Amino acid sequence: MGNLADITLRALETLKAVDAVACEDTRHARRFLDHYGIRAATFALHEHNEQEAGAKLIDMLRQGKSVAMISDAGTPAISDPGAKAVAAVQAAGFAVIPLPGPNAAATALSASGITDARFLFVGFLPPKAAARRAEIERLKSVDAALVFYEAPHRIEETITDLAAVLAPERELVVARELTKLFEQIVRLPIAEAPAWLAADSNRQRGEFVLIISAPKERSGLDGEAERVLKALLAELPTKQAAKLAAEITGVSKNDLYQRALALKE
Ligand code: SAM
Repeated sequence: MGNLADITLRALETLKAVDAVACEDTRHARRFLDHYGIRAATFALHEHNEQEAGAKLIDMLRQGKSVAMISDAGTPAISDPGAKAVAAVQAAGFAVIPLPGPNAAATALSASGITDARFLFVGFLPPKAAARRAEIERLKSVDAALVFYEAPHRIEETITDLAAVLAPERELVVARELTKLFEQIVRLPIAEAPAWLAADSNRQRGEFVLIISAPKERSGLDGEAERVLKALLAELPTKQAAKLAAEITGVSKNDLYQRALALKE
């Protein structure tokens, strides 16, 4: 995340009280800690040393010390190091106390205008084109909004791939530079997104959260008909499921059959 003032009062109190702070990058963290007059000792805990640093952290806890963990920005363990250390600390019999705070995905969702009840946090897509497309293909029928993180040097290819694979009417929210000076939150149909991005090079700068709205029901079936059809499809061949669903719900057999085919696809 981006704004120094996004930190919570509880996080500041905790950082002031602990004996040491495990940081993704100690120099980066020092600037932040100095800003708030926090003098706790720091040590590095990042993706390349998480196991050894986790062991060091556990040693300190065994000596009766208290240790906080922070990442460069946002919440540790979410597309950031920390999860393995948390698991190791818990396995060693110590409690891990979460301090809620800034998280780019939650921040973007809260101002996205996406009204779907469910979302799937995907994080970063694979950097290589073929793997990225394959992953988007896998995600395209997930019945939830999709939340991605992306870096500026890959934003163009990622948005191009999302537009190529996903249904054109699905909405894309580009949430850029959240809580920073050039914050921008835009919602548009995914099919229009590549042109929007290309229209101004500033739109490709900074840090990004991308949110895609959930797929729309293609057949226009109501919730009950959809539920019955899905239950029957789990047990019966397509034709028979559509026929029975039509008898139960009163919805046209053909509509149900078409929807059943789409679901199977
Ligand atoms: N742990 C962090 C969190 O809780 O949000 C995420 C860390 S991840 C390494 C960094 C990615 O998060 C960036 O590439 C970007 O996709 C997203 N991100 C972080 N800060 C952001 C911001 N201020 N605006 C938009 N996206 C942001």
